[in-house]
Amino acid sequence: MSWFIRKDKGIQTPTEMKREAPDGLWYQCPNCKKVMHTREHKLNAYTCVHCNYHEKIGSDAYFAVLFDNNTFTELDPDMISGDPLTFRDTKAYTDRIKTTIAKTGLKDAVRTGYGKMNDLDITIACMDFGFIGGSMGSVVGEKIARAIDHSLKHKQPFLMISRSGGARMMEAGFSLMQMAKTSAKLALLAQAKVPYVSLLTDPTTGGVTASFAMLGDFNIAEPEALIGFAGPRVIRETIGKDLPKGFQSAEFVLDHGFLDFIVDRKDLKDKLTSLLKMLQ
Ligand SMILES: [Zn+2]
Repeated sequence: MSWFIRKDKGIQTPTEMKREAPDGLWYQCPNCKKVMHTREHKLNAYTCVHCNYHEKIGSDAYFAVLFDNNTFTELDPDMISGDPLTFRDTKAYTDRIKTTIAKTGLKDAVRTGYGKMNDLDITIACMDFGFIGGSMGSVVGEKIARAIDHSLKHKQPFLMISRSGGARMMEAGFSLMQMAKTSAKLALLAQAKVPYVSLLTDPTTGGVTASFAMLGDFNIAEPEALIGFAGPRVIRETIGKDLPKGFQSAEFVLDHGFLDFIVDRKDLKDKLTSLLKMLQ
């Protein structure tokens, strides 16, 4: 009965000879830890097929989810940040921008474009958290402002997808000015009665929440997204009280009247389409 006894000690196969599934074939959900096919996960709009956890995704994935056949024209794809304050923290801001561009393949924390969504013309701006925490500097503000101009000129609905830590400290006051600029542009859009839908994803905080993200004709969010202005620690220390359970979750914010509805990412495209058709 030697066939089930391991005669050799140790594992003999050298690492390079081991058969492994190619990288990126499987996706493990960080919430329920279950494993699924990357393709299945993608077809499910990057949500977990077991527990519906919404994976944090960037503009690439949102554009693929929303634009028909992932076909769109990008606006201002090459706009890059300057360094108006010659800012330096642990490293120079210009170096930080350079390395982040190389690392992410993105030029800044928002991408904007227009195309068709279920045959409906739409302009979409989508933030990328991977670029310095999705922080809002001059480029983010300017690109959003220009996307709103495009939407206004062609009278097509504007969708803003926010995911941001707030204003970009390396541009200080210049970042804060973007709040006023984007808000003013949105006021023009409202005057022209062009619909604006703001989708808040996990997390949407700081100056982004305090400006364009909360100015939609419809403010909607993904399930369980963290939505707030200041972080919970700062608030707790300021008011000197414990915070209620679920504070700053999309569900809590909805219950308190700041959101119109929460949308599952798998239903996002169709729900947006019917919403915009009602407004036409
Ligand atoms: Zn899961």
